[in-house]
Amino acid sequence: MGVIQASSKAVTISKFISHDEESSYIEVPFSVPEGTEQIKVKMEVIQTGAASSIIDLGVKDPNRVRGWSGGARTEFFIHQAKATPGYLHGEIEAGEWAVILGAYKVAVKGCTVNLAIEYSLEEFRWLKGDLHTHSVHSDGTYTLREKADICESAGLDFLGLTDHNTSSQNEAYPRDVNTLFIPGMELTTNWGHLNLFGVKDPIRDFRVNTMEELHGRLNEARENGAYISLNHPYCRHTGWRWDWDFDYDCVEVWNGPWREDNQAALDWWQDQLVSGRRLVAVGGSDVHRPDPYVIHGMPTTWVFGKSLTSSEILKSIDKGHVVLSYSPKGPFISVTCGTSMTGDVCEDRNQPIQLNVKDVQYSDVVKVISNHGIEKEILIEEGQDMLDLSWAAEDRSFYRVEVWRYFPEVKSRLLAALSNPIYFSNLIC
Ligand SMILES: [Zn+2]
Ligand SMILES: [Zn+2]
Repeated sequence: MGVIQASSKAVTISKFISHDEESSYIEVPFSVPEGTEQIKVKMEVIQTGAASSIIDLGVKDPNRVRGWSGGARTEFFIHQAKATPGYLHGEIEAGEWAVILGAYKVAVKGCTVNLAIEYSLEEFRWLKGDLHTHSVHSDGTYTLREKADICESAGLDFLGLTDHNTSSQNEAYPRDVNTLFIPGMELTTNWGHLNLFGVKDPIRDFRVNTMEELHGRLNEARENGAYISLNHPYCRHTGWRWDWDFDYDCVEVWNGPWREDNQAALDWWQDQLVSGRRLVAVGGSDVHRPDPYVIHGMPTTWVFGKSLTSSEILKSIDKGHVVLSYSPKGPFISVTCGTSMTGDVCEDRNQPIQLNVKDVQYSDVVKVISNHGIEKEILIEEGQDMLDLSWAAEDRSFYRVEVWRYFPEVKSRLLAALSNPIYFSNLIC
């Protein structure tokens, strides 16, 4: 046995199994580095002579057998949040793991097993998804598998499952797909809707008839570890009609296709920011069924996180490390100042603010907005697909960016992208 090729991300191990080893379980150790998000193992059995060898496949982590597929598979993956059927997702502890080879039948001349082991390490990157969607578990028509397929083809990394007043969807979502499902529930009351994210069963009873009951439900959700989003607060049918003084983490300023109700939420959010409040804005399609305009990933919420797990994504949303775009294809806004990004409070006003907007197109309008209102409006010229801009913070308490685009199919100029603000610490007079 020897390592024939190695890099930080992949290793290939070759192991000869002799006929004498038939019926035994052979461990092939490999070490897993700190900060591993996913492991993928591929097995190839090189036969010798006419008789075939049959080798079963499994794996153990430093503490236990972590999965077994017998002769049914020649490859598997284990991710912190997902895994091949037969394997357990969860924390990927650093240390010595071992592929378990079950030498079920070994030819007289033996066989060689090649194992390709690939690691993906945690690394900060922009993950994109849709935080607000429905399925057959409430009044949607999509099964969870259909949703996973749709998200995969749209290039979405994650999907919030927010069926109305139920949590059965969170017991049923697949974990053998590329899409990460974020468990959720849309607490749907007669006077407004809230998404409860990150736990499978945030509340035992959804019924709310008084403000006191609402506080009680939200306390319960909090104690269970949920993050709370105020949904479509200015929707003309299902907007927020409770008292606004309650406990939540973020506001859905962009629900489905851009329209007046969203504009009202955006205006309200701007007022909140101007008043000094630091509140994270998110988006979600609220898709229920096939529709020409309400589509998974429209809008897309981009989150800067180090692993594709619910806890990491929700933690990063809580920090405001979030930008929105009307589709998974962008446009994409990046605003930084030194080492600070959207959502952060920059302590150094002397560093220039850097704006980069990707995937803009001719006639898009990029607006830079602060607590003083619109500061800059830039019209994208013919042939231009990117905008770079830099300016000084001066005495402003935040800057945020919007991209507006003319959509000929609806003959209107609509929001195409929105950043969360980058904040500046209070001026000392
Ligand atoms: Zn709703
Ligand atoms: Zn909804």
